[in-house]
Amino acid sequence: MTAGGFDGVERRGLMFVLSSPSGAGKTTLSRMLLEREPGLKMSVSATTRSMRPGEVEGRDYFFVDKPKFETMVEQGELLEWATVFDNLYGTPRAPVEAALSAGQDVLFDIDWQGTQQLHQKASVDVVRVFILPPSAADLEKRLHTRAQDSDEVIRGRMSRATHELSHWAEYDYIVVNHNVDDAFAEVQSILKAERLKRERRTGLTEFVRKLQRQLEK
Ligand code: 5GP
Repeated sequence: MTAGGFDGVERRGLMFVLSSPSGAGKTTLSRMLLEREPGLKMSVSATTRSMRPGEVEGRDYFFVDKPKFETMVEQGELLEWATVFDNLYGTPRAPVEAALSAGQDVLFDIDWQGTQQLHQKASVDVVRVFILPPSAADLEKRLHTRAQDSDEVIRGRMSRATHELSHWAEYDYIVVNHNVDDAFAEVQSILKAERLKRERRTGLTEFVRKLQRQLEK
């Protein structure tokens, strides 16, 4: 699991988790990160929920039925899984392991239940970021402008937001999304700083030894 550091120092790949109540802007922030951060790959989840307009199989999710999902669970194909809004969601293990061993970092858009499971399995390699909306009114407005869900679904998501919010203290970083550019800059800074953490940088000992040899000459 080594990623080539941009400064030539090898390091372990990291698992970068973004969670938030739906409508807090996490999808936009994920998209921006993927566009602007080389070496970062999205983990595409499997879900039993139905496809929304505009979504693409294999890009947004792998849309599967319940029996297929249950088989994936039984065969140990999921790194984590959870029930969210009465549907099943889970992270396929193989693509994550392949990306990490190919030297990439992996971005996850998963809820608090999945984050807890990932953290239990790979704590030092997991960076947990929670995105907060600036207000309840803002959250509701975003859910309506997204125009993907019925009023009833939106009401359900608003009431679930309260529960999701209660897990904020289980995250390493909290970003309040007042505006998307500032929130993006904050999330990007977190990623950049985490990539530099000493304990991930497996190549540091060798790098410093080389420096010392050069200095001794
Ligand atoms: P949506 O249906 O709006 O795409 O996603 C609903 C919620 O499920 C979001 O909070 C999202 O982060 C979460 N989610 C998506 N994929 C996964 C997954 O693979 N595992 C878990 N635990 N949560 C997921």
